[in-house]
Amino acid sequence: MKPTHIEHIGIAVASLEEAIPFYEKVLGLECYSIEEVADQKVKTAFFKIGQTKIELLEPTSPESTIAKFIEKNGGGMHHIAFAVEDVATALNEAAEAGCQLIDKAPRNGAEGLKIGFLHPKSTNRVLTEICGEK
Ligand code: ZN
Repeated sequence: MKPTHIEHIGIAVASLEEAIPFYEKVLGLECYSIEEVADQKVKTAFFKIGQTKIELLEPTSPESTIAKFIEKNGGGMHHIAFAVEDVATALNEAAEAGCQLIDKAPRNGAEGLKIGFLHPKSTNRVLTEICGEK
């Protein structure tokens, strides 16, 4: 698969409004985008650090997997996303290598990117996202 870098780290929060000040006031980062991703029933806030981003995820519905994660764990580190050129190819390669997939085909993520998740059972219990332009 050969990812080029860590695209972002996803962090589940109950409220963007309450979480953003830590990143802005303590870390001195700038929230450059807030976007709702209907597919995932979340509202996201992004911060950039070099080539990598922090993605805060606030659930917009109790049905959201993020809402369930917060209910179970109280929030916190949710997933790590690796950047690849072609998400469909990367997912196929992962499946061929014996990795269990959550998404067999790419779907739409934030920032107009294609995304797909690998199953934590196959990734040492770390929810892993593959993400790229196509
Ligand atoms: Zn993500």
